[in-house]
Amino acid sequence: MEISERIKELKKELDTVTLVAVSKTHPITLIQEAYQAGQRVFGENRVQELVPKHEALPKDIQWHLIGSLQTNKVKYIASFVYMIQSVDSLKLLETIDKEAQKHNRKINCLLQVYIAQEETKHGFDPTEIVDFFTTQKFNNYKNIEFSGLMGMATNTDNLDQVSKEFRSLNLLFTQIKNIYTNPSFFQLSMGMSSDYKLAIKEGATIVRIGSTIFGKR
Ligand SMILES: *Cc1c(COP(=O)(O)O)cnc(C)c1O
Repeated sequence: MEISERIKELKKELDTVTLVAVSKTHPITLIQEAYQAGQRVFGENRVQELVPKHEALPKDIQWHLIGSLQTNKVKYIASFVYMIQSVDSLKLLETIDKEAQKHNRKINCLLQVYIAQEETKHGFDPTEIVDFFTTQKFNNYKNIEFSGLMGMATNTDNLDQVSKEFRSLNLLFTQIKNIYTNPSFFQLSMGMSSDYKLAIKEGATIVRIGSTIFGKR
């Protein structure tokens, strides 16, 4: 199947769920193919790759940063990035806030939550997220739009476990929405090629799909 067909199929299946086409490691020509099929939302995990792609491609693309981000790299993307999904520390939040202020804009951010049984994944603990909103720490970051939460499930064939992890993230999401009632906080990003169907069942509003669209990396 062609990239354009895969995107059309996915869009039908996803309905109102937002598709972030994860284009990391893939060349600009393939992104252009997806763009021509109507895709406008793309995800990259490395700043060094995101910056040249942003420069080369149409400016109506919404770029999502989905990989772990070093504070010293935020300045390279602060002027244009649409959303940073992988915010995993207060230090990073502070830096994004400062850099966004320099560009006189707000940057959409998702707080990444650690839900997996794996050392390699990172993010805030659920208790830290609850504390963050209960103690109204969000007031310290005027140039950040808190848009929701992001999580990655354990990389396992145990579908029950994956579903459970997504469900726990959705419960946390609901809990936070009761504390932090800002209407901009409505996004739950979970699910990739291997588990997006489960993620949608458990309430994802954004899925991040790479290999199903672009093939193996
Ligand atoms: C690479 C990546 C994805 C997409 O993974 P696929 O298995 O190719 O769909 C999703 N989320 C994050 C954070 C990633 O780094």
